[in-house]
Amino acid sequence: MNITELARLLRITPQELREQLPKLGFDIGQKAIKIPKPIANKIIKDWPRLRRQIETQKRIEREREEAELKEKRKLQKITIKLPQYITIREFSEISNVPVNKILAELMKNGIFASLNEKIDHDTAWLISEELGLDIVKEDEQENKKEDEKDKLKDAFAAQKEDLAERAPVVVVMGHVDHGKTRLLDAIRETNVVEGEAGGITQHIGAYQIEKNNKKITFIDTPGHEAFTAMRSRGAKIADIAILVVAADDGVKPQTIEAYRIIEKAKLPVIVAINKIDKPDANVDKTKQELSSKLNLTSEDWGGKTIMAPISAKEGMGINDLIDMILLVADVEEDNIKANPKGSAMGSVIESNIDKGAGPTVTLLVQNGVLKLGDSLTYNGIDYGKVRALYNFLGESIEEAGPSTPAKIIGLKISPEVGDLLEVGEGKKVKINKIKSIGQTAPSSRQSMPEDDSSVKKFTILIKSDVLGSAGAIEESLYKIQGENVKIKIIHKGMGNITEGDIIKAEAADAMIAGFNVKLPNNLEEMARIKGVEIKIYNVIYDLINDVREKMEAMLEEEVTVFDIGRLKVLALFRTETKSQIVGGKVLDGKIEKDTIADVERKGTIIERGKLTSLQSGKLEVDYVEEGDECGVVFEGSPIIEEGDILIIRKEERKKSKL
Ligand code: GDP
Repeated sequence: MNITELARLLRITPQELREQLPKLGFDIGQKAIKIPKPIANKIIKDWPRLRRQIETQKRIEREREEAELKEKRKLQKITIKLPQYITIREFSEISNVPVNKILAELMKNGIFASLNEKIDHDTAWLISEELGLDIVKEDEQENKKEDEKDKLKDAFAAQKEDLAERAPVVVVMGHVDHGKTRLLDAIRETNVVEGEAGGITQHIGAYQIEKNNKKITFIDTPGHEAFTAMRSRGAKIADIAILVVAADDGVKPQTIEAYRIIEKAKLPVIVAINKIDKPDANVDKTKQELSSKLNLTSEDWGGKTIMAPISAKEGMGINDLIDMILLVADVEEDNIKANPKGSAMGSVIESNIDKGAGPTVTLLVQNGVLKLGDSLTYNGIDYGKVRALYNFLGESIEEAGPSTPAKIIGLKISPEVGDLLEVGEGKKVKINKIKSIGQTAPSSRQSMPEDDSSVKKFTILIKSDVLGSAGAIEESLYKIQGENVKIKIIHKGMGNITEGDIIKAEAADAMIAGFNVKLPNNLEEMARIKGVEIKIYNVIYDLINDVREKMEAMLEEEVTVFDIGRLKVLALFRTETKSQIVGGKVLDGKIEKDTIADVERKGTIIERGKLTSLQSGKLEVDYVEEGDECGVVFEGSPIIEEGDILIIRKEERKKSKL
């Protein structure tokens, strides 16, 4: 039978038939013209099954090709430089990625932007992986941050022989509600350093535990601001990261985001698979997701990642997890060092303004020993003296060595989370009294020295589900601020609203705006008592509009006064203690009642009063015009004499817009 005839019967091209038949096990040459009749008959008979086989094969081939392409793209990640802020259009032009692809990726992250809207660097970075891009920042700021990072590195390099072991610093990250807070509590409860009075630890954003005579420092800030700030500001705080993944929920968007941050910071990671006590917990499925979505394969599956099944709630597996941290710290020993004899420096992990005490700062000492009475500097500027020093247990201490979190009171300027403070004498700058800081409560240094009281500030604390949306909100808020009302973001972070947020907001008189996060029920009452306004939004646009309204309400009314006419006083009819009735002639303009009346004598205004009544003949009228004669009631000091001029003015009040 002719191949073309068979192809026609089977509704397929001869070419395709020639290609597919060998794959289906028929020995037909690529150039064959005829097929033996029995074979042709067999093909015709089995065609429905054979066709399905062909389709499946084609699909598999297609999928393989796509996977290869994806892999290739991954390998050839394109590096592009982006400024701190960039419009979607420019981003598309620089990266060569179509605009709608960028918008779709943003949308996946809960960010709805338009073509000409700007996104910040963090947001661009967030979607870069999916777009096959490697993004680096191009602004000068970056160099400064690099300098800061290098400063620590330089300090270590110069003191190589004096370097000594220090406690590893651990940060806990992961998706909201996967149990980060609970885990930090569980670790703290089981292993806090001895000697604690009554077991009450102060919340200072970090704590230390001890096991087998070895200390571990945990960064314990709600929403893990310290770590994200550290990443964005370039300072190095943590040595090891714990990625918490709930076994009943698996890998979620923030798990991925958190892991990207960890990867970028090149931190060794331990995965804590949490909530294994729950009936629907599935450790294997979670491991599978970690492997397929993050390329993290557990050691018992032949991979390299340490994965610890735990229940933060039941306290299961916590001790093993701590052992694993110590193990990783051992392996990383060379990187976990500092010089206790060197000049003290450390990164800010929490910074607040306390109504009574002024700036209070938690510093993670990273080198040297910080002592009571030391002066601290940042960027060469004197930030003030350490007047009181406390450990995380709230005990007063005299000094704090490497890897120790310590609370400092006494600074004049409130630094920002992530700042690297150093001991030394810096340049003194004139700073307004702390009292005024308490009133406007700016918690960052920028507004301290040149505080302009005529400019109002709308203070806000932003919590969002992913870092990218916080960045987008921040950018949009900066866009709507006006000349006279500025936005002051005292803090932005990931995760649900916490007690710490409310305390911060209260101190700074700030509103809390949550985007796609929750306000735990038990905190509603606390916020109400403290008078902190908390609003949760699901749409960025609503958040921005709300803030705009609130900012406009803060604006003063604009009052414009303008002249409407002049009256020459010709007669005094009656004089009382606080008013006069006078008669006169309108020199120019138009005179109305319920207006301002300034009394002018010999070219000088000598009194301001009100014109409350206006008569023409015997009739009360609303207005009189140029050339008319009238009688008026003037309310004010009765000093009008014949020959004075009343300048009549009207006031117009207008609510200012941003
Ligand atoms: P975070 O948002 O990651 O800090 O999560 P939380 O620590 O606030 O935990 C979220 C919720 O999960 C809380 O209701 C916890 O009590 C609960 N949770 C945390 N760990 C566990 C666990 O191991 N088992 C169970 N059953 N619930 C847990």
